[in-house]
Amino acid sequence: MSFVWTLAEQHEGRLKGVSFELLGRGRALADALDTKLASVVIGDGVDAAQLEALVHRGADEVYAIQDPRLASFTCETYSNLLVHLIKTYQPSVLLAAATSTGRTLMPHVAVRVHTGLTADCTELAIEPGTGQLLQTRPAIGGNIMATIKTPDHRPQMATVRPKSSRPLPADPTRVGKVIAVPLDDFLVDDRVRVTGYRRDALDFVNLEEAEVVVAGGRGMKKAEHFDLLRDLADAWGGAVGATRDAVDRGWLGYPHQVGLSGKTISPRLYIGAGISGAIQHLAGIKTSDTIVSINSDPDASLHKVADFGIVGDLFDVLRELRRRLQERREEGPS
Ligand SMILES: Cc1cc2nc3c(=O)[nH]c(=O)nc-3n(C[C@H](O)[C@H](O)[C@H](O)COP(=O)(O)OP(=O)(O)OC[C@H]3O[C@@H](n4cnc5c(N)ncnc54)[C@H](O)[C@@H]3O)c2cc1C
Repeated sequence: MSFVWTLAEQHEGRLKGVSFELLGRGRALADALDTKLASVVIGDGVDAAQLEALVHRGADEVYAIQDPRLASFTCETYSNLLVHLIKTYQPSVLLAAATSTGRTLMPHVAVRVHTGLTADCTELAIEPGTGQLLQTRPAIGGNIMATIKTPDHRPQMATVRPKSSRPLPADPTRVGKVIAVPLDDFLVDDRVRVTGYRRDALDFVNLEEAEVVVAGGRGMKKAEHFDLLRDLADAWGGAVGATRDAVDRGWLGYPHQVGLSGKTISPRLYIGAGISGAIQHLAGIKTSDTIVSINSDPDASLHKVADFGIVGDLFDVLRELRRRLQERREEGPS
């Protein structure tokens, strides 16, 4: 019996986008294995419409374990639940997102069920003939792509980079089973309770969820010039990204880094200023809807993949963009 499972993530009763990305990955694997795809939801207050949305986006079954004590992620309790489910249903593959939740929970679970785990995969496939999961991720500082297998232990576990694939389109005609799994008290570890979040802990750079990312590279020349990008990002409710070069120079912190050894993003609009477009940077932006490149070098690689390339001095272009945005704001809504 082989099942493919994905772990859905929720926050305050809302399923996160990454839950649907994982289903797209899982669907391809389940189809290759000719087996069912199930999604596991652990949390509280996730309504029926959202659980049904998991079916519409690829799940055959949804196991929902909901209880006020599960509202916030705590590693011990979530791990108890997953281990219990794995032992009961024995899935062949278990995928979670390489988010802080997935990266914390999956190693804990893997150790307890005596299996392996490949972290931060960018590609997954089924090996023809053996049916084993091929788990591919950058290795040795991103210089090679390593493909890892778990031949002897089950489930085959992997975390997957958020935004490294798109969700399947919703198909409201898909039917599946939503199974409410009761929570057994003995699985709740009440030694850890979440009492609230510190504001500064929430003040992270949410690049992966941003609809607009304005990124800067070495061409920005110094840290203070990133204020130009911040202004634009603020005006659009977006986030500021950076190349590794800019981060290495200390102009922005690592959470802003986009690319192979940083974050993978897929905003609706990506603007890259003073960025040459090295292959490692492009790896992080290739699923963006619209790419705009601002570079004085007409032969810059980023221009070649961009939907719009602006050849010119980035400071002139950014100031002009800011001026026009300001004008629009003063004119008010048209
Ligand atoms: C293993 C490995 C992993 C890596 N991971 C990453 C990663 O995750 N992310 C990443 O970004 N890089 C990564 N890199 C580094 C990558 O190879 C490049 O070195 C880096 O992306 C270059 O950054 P840049 O575009 O800011 O700088 P440069 O390549 O130096 O480009 C600067 C650009 O600015 C332009 N410019 C200069 N002045 C102006 C101006 N006034 N107006 C307009 N344009 C101007 C120039 O024409 C030039 O094209 C990795 C490298 C390795 C080996």
